[in-house]
Amino acid sequence: MKDSSYTFLICEKFCDYYKPGREEDVCGGYFFIKNFLTHRELDSLIKVFSLNEEKMLEEKLNFLCNQCDFRADGCDFYAGKSSTPCGGYIILSRLYCQIYS
Ligand code: SF4
Repeated sequence: MKDSSYTFLICEKFCDYYKPGREEDVCGGYFFIKNFLTHRELDSLIKVFSLNEEKMLEEKLNFLCNQCDFRADGCDFYAGKSSTPCGGYIILSRLYCQIYS
């Protein structure tokens, strides 16, 4: 189940696939962020590391996708049909990019 404070930061701001009203659907990126960061910490990281910028990590974040219910038949990025991952994936990819480059 989604939490509106995370949904605003992750899905509404970063995810091209977000559909309001489907609050029971949680992807791997959302699940990982919600488990490890408070929404205030996430909000701060987005601002401090300028995560609205376009950069992305080259390597795939398999640890996110491997725990995602959409991986099997609901994610075009995972299936290689799209270059755009979900919002949680984008946030973490940009964060790793900022930290490790
Ligand atoms: S990119 Fe796709 S498979 Fe990976 S975490 Fe996001 S929705 Fe799930």
